[in-house]
Formats: sequence, structure tokens, C-alpha cells
Amino acid sequence: MPLTPFHLGPALVVKAAARRHFSLRVFALAQILIDLESARGMFFSGYRLHGPLHSLVGATLAGLLAAVLGRYVFNALNSPLRAFLRRVEGMPALLVEEVVPITWTAAIIGGAVGGISHALLDAVIHPDVMPFWPSSTSNPLLTDGSFYPMHYGCALLGLVGDVAWLVLARVSPRGTSRSL
Ligand SMILES: [Zn+2]
Repeated sequence: MPLTPFHLGPALVVKAAARRHFSLRVFALAQILIDLESARGMFFSGYRLHGPLHSLVGATLAGLLAAVLGRYVFNALNSPLRAFLRRVEGMPALLVEEVVPITWTAAIIGGAVGGISHALLDAVIHPDVMPFWPSSTSNPLLTDGSFYPMHYGCALLGLVGDVAWLVLARVSPRGTSRSL
């Protein structure tokens, strides 16, 4: 999908289910890296909106790049981010406590899930996605009429995941390492 946050909906459910083993920030970085391809297609003529980076192979590699980059960058920013959040008026302490160092496991799972889910979700709704590139340029996953149901479904999952994550953060606050 060119530059929309709808991929984050299902990710919030995964985050609620596997808090310490899944980095939401790395997942989000993977979405941005993959959609740089769509941005290039939107701003420059002659490029596809969904090319090799939106295939399962390309998106997974982009997700692993996000894991390596994101783990270093986000971990370096953890302390200033926590200090900033603590100063925000009304910020619940339990949310600040969710910002902890990202482990390699959480980074790789966040990046891989981010890449694979991006390619699969986009393939269902966009005819020009080539999920099985380079071995095939067709899109057998395309489903007619799925565009709006997909977006509503992802928004709903985002809401459910968000609430579940907040409830879990309250019931079982930080103490072990978790990765936002
Ligand atoms: Zn996309």
C-alpha cells in the first residue's frame, strides 16, 4: 500500500500477544523502507508502485535491514525518548516503561513479520504486486472487492490490539525486557 499506516493494525495484535519478542518500532521502520518504492513510483514517472521490494523476497530482506538499522538507532534513542515521554503532561508511566532496549530476537521478528505481512496484505488488494517475484510476476493473491474490507479489518484489529496491549501493560507492567 503506498504510504498508509493500515499495516500497523494487525501488528498491534501481534504486539499484544508477543510483547517482549516483537519490536513495533522495527516493524514500522520496515513498512517505511518498503513503501519508499511506492513513493518513488508516485513522484517519478517510469517506476512501478509495487515492484521487487513488495515481493515476499524483497520485503523480507527490507524487514531484516530494518531489524539491523532499527535495533541500533532505536536503542541509541531509548534514553532520550524515555526522558521526553516522562515530561509529557498526562503520559501514563506504564507507557514510558514499555520503551526498553530492543533485543535481536524482537528486532528480527518485528522486521520479518513486517516485511512478509506487507507483501501479503498489499498483494491481496493491489493488482500490480508481484508476491512471488522473481520466479513469477503474476499476483494469484489478488482478491476482488477486498480494498475497503481490508482497510476496515486492519483498523479494527488495530483498535483491538491497542486495547489488549494497554490492558496487558497495566496488568503485567515492565520488569522483564520488552521491546516497543
Ligand atoms: Zn506497500
